[in-house]
Amino acid sequence: MSISSERIAALRDYVPEVRELTIDGKPVKPAGETWDVYNPATEEVIATVSGATKEQVDEAIRAARTAFDTWSKMSGEERSAAMHSLADRLEARWEELLASIVNEVGTPVSTAEFLQVKMGLGHLRWFADAAKKDRTVHLGPYDVPVPTMSDVDHYPVGVVAAITGYNYPLNLAGFKYGAALAAGCTVVLLPSPRTPLTTLLLGEIIRESDLPDGVINVVLGGADIGQYLSSHPGVDKVSFTGSDAVGAKIMEQAAANLNDVVLELGGKSANIVLPGCDVESFAVDMHMRWSRNSGQGCAALARLLVHEDLFDRFMKAGAEAFPKMKVGDPWDPETHIGPLIRPDHRDRVNGFITEALEQGGKALLQVETPLPEKGWYVNPILLGNLPHSARAVQQEIFGPVAVVLTYKDVDEAIRLANDTAYGLAANVWAPTLEEGRRVAEQLRAGTVWINGGGAMRPDAPFGGSGRSGIGRELGEWGIQEFLEPRHIQWAL
Ligand code: NAD
Repeated sequence: MSISSERIAALRDYVPEVRELTIDGKPVKPAGETWDVYNPATEEVIATVSGATKEQVDEAIRAARTAFDTWSKMSGEERSAAMHSLADRLEARWEELLASIVNEVGTPVSTAEFLQVKMGLGHLRWFADAAKKDRTVHLGPYDVPVPTMSDVDHYPVGVVAAITGYNYPLNLAGFKYGAALAAGCTVVLLPSPRTPLTTLLLGEIIRESDLPDGVINVVLGGADIGQYLSSHPGVDKVSFTGSDAVGAKIMEQAAANLNDVVLELGGKSANIVLPGCDVESFAVDMHMRWSRNSGQGCAALARLLVHEDLFDRFMKAGAEAFPKMKVGDPWDPETHIGPLIRPDHRDRVNGFITEALEQGGKALLQVETPLPEKGWYVNPILLGNLPHSARAVQQEIFGPVAVVLTYKDVDEAIRLANDTAYGLAANVWAPTLEEGRRVAEQLRAGTVWINGGGAMRPDAPFGGSGRSGIGRELGEWGIQEFLEPRHIQWAL
């Protein structure tokens, strides 16, 4: 799977068809409110979509409940085969999915191909295999007050409301339904109203797959529909990816039914450069990573903590890295930074920059290529000379903006790294793996990469603590979120 320049030329004009909702395995015409969807690179309206009504959400939940009765009783092998059939169908239509993502999110094609389509498919296949696993734990004998034996098996929680943010529509959805389906649950999926087209297409592909009707339902809507879905008495668990502000609301809404939540929220992840590092060897990689998807990534490692002795070398290496961050047309395979999702978000990001500069911050590195005439672009920038308490240092910016601070000793670096309301991810650049691990083990973050690490893997947990959320996605940890343990004890 790799996109050629001929295919890019063919796909860049792809006009997404507006698909209907997917409820109980059938296309359903949405009857709720209507809004426009934009291409953030061209500022053009690429589709006008309608959301579900509350009655249609009720229907989707009813369908998921009915499907749960059969899906949860199917063997792991049967569920696995149906999930693989979805992966096959997604693979067959990967170019359409890619085109949809590039056009509605503005993610550069190279990033979208890897981080959305390939990764999303790989993760779904992993979940499909994991559906077959026997999770029963045999506890053995216990003789108080009488001899007994115990097993712990699991039962699926039921109907899952899966609500996603805009930045990675395909794989954020896949993290949720992959784990939920592997556990034996069924799903009502609600994508971001700003990027609904990929998920509507996913719904159509779900209908073509061997998944039984109603196992995954796709609805559409804004905050009111999200609120209705997450507080619905027919839902058993809410899995949400988005901002911490909305995450707090979700928790309150789910509490109406005493429902549990998985919350995958934002971050302000530290990127520590330890003394003794060969900064020239990783400067490009480091700057390319935090700015990926124009910085619209929850785990963007955009809080750079550099030992004071390395600072000058670090800046010199960065000055060579920055010009490589090509800003512009997301369909150009060389582009690294595409547009931001909407003009209000672009203004918010620019507001962080202006405020930091007004408060004595300095633009240490900048790309100053003229921005395309159309599109909600921001040039990447590295800010410095800011106190650790500054808003740009503490808050998630979600744009191509990083901040750099210096520290005197490793204890101070660890203290600064942990001095944030978030706890999602971190990276440690270290001269040796041992030194990197020593620091990693003291960081309050759900994922710690050492010397760049790799991508998120399907068998490892992803998520965080503090304002980064509750619970984990991916791996056995992600599946366990959708299972309840059941202790079965018998007298001997
Ligand atoms: P957002 O919180 O604005 O919206 C997310 C979703 O919530 C949307 O579908 C929206 O319609 C819905 N929503 C809004 N109000 C609601 C309510 N009251 N009840 C129910 N649903 C409601 O987030 P966004 O701007 O789309 O996404 C960006 C955020 O997502 C960033 O903070 C980013 O860090 C975070 N994120 C986290 C992860 C992770 O895995 N930790 C991954 C990607 C993005």
